[in-house]
Amino acid sequence: MTLSQRIAVVTGGGRGIGAATARTLAANGASVVVSARSVDEIEAVAEELREAGSQAIAIPCDVTSPEQILALRDRCTEAFGRPADILINNAGIADSRPLKAVTVDYWDHLFAVNVRSVMLCTQAFLPAMTEAGWGRIVNVASIAGKMGAAYIGAYSATKHAVIGFTRSIACEVATQGVTVNAVCPGYVDTDMTDKSVKRITAKTGITVEQAMQHLESTSPQHRLMTAEEVAFAVLGLCHELARGINGQSVIIDGGAVQA
Ligand code: NAP
Repeated sequence: MTLSQRIAVVTGGGRGIGAATARTLAANGASVVVSARSVDEIEAVAEELREAGSQAIAIPCDVTSPEQILALRDRCTEAFGRPADILINNAGIADSRPLKAVTVDYWDHLFAVNVRSVMLCTQAFLPAMTEAGWGRIVNVASIAGKMGAAYIGAYSATKHAVIGFTRSIACEVATQGVTVNAVCPGYVDTDMTDKSVKRITAKTGITVEQAMQHLESTSPQHRLMTAEEVAFAVLGLCHELARGINGQSVIIDGGAVQA
């Protein structure tokens, strides 16, 4: 088992990409802490992992709260004897609106959930990794962190920020056995994309099928990515032999963005 003896924390682990990542890391031997705000969802994922023979616990945390992030770290330490060897900063929200509708509160909230949380979780979990001389941090960014598109100025700015943060912290810890990377999915078949489809249909009047076709057409493979494909990329970055991959942003979109 690639990740046996490793403890992994997955934020936003209750559904979508986070839940798939929790399953993949657990299937490869990691003990997994599944975290998000919805207690029923994280409990269900953790229970499923335990039933499959893995060690897993659910710890609720709102990643916009610095106090709750420190409490998450402390509860991980209580449960496993150390905070974590692997941190997957996956929790995030998406929204779209034209620039004229972007308010300060909207901007700050997107940044608090998508960016400030990545900084705070990294601050909380990184010291134990550098002390141990081994660690893996994977930040779930987006192709919106690699390119712009109409109406996603705020979301796109958060994901560009995550990639910039990833690159800089990767440099900061490069000699200490820790790698920091990002994954950049295109549209993934999750609740988040279902909500995007609803927003598009409400704003443009096109049908659900047309909206879905539009999102699928953004990939040269004419399909949505799956959460499991993203989880596989995350797993690869956590592997022992991935120690030379640092500060990178791995795109999973079927080939639309090649940078
Ligand atoms: P999702 O199905 O909506 O799941 C999002 C997860 O984040 C949930 O577990 C949610 O749980 C958690 N979350 C949201 N706000 C949180 C908060 N304040 N504190 C703690 N947890 C919070 O979304 P997804 O598609 O799996 O997306 C996961 C990540 O991938 C996000 O960072 C997203 O930006 C990125 N991404 C998604 C796509 C896509 O097409 N779906 C593409 C590129 C990148 P609670 O609401 O219970 O807290």
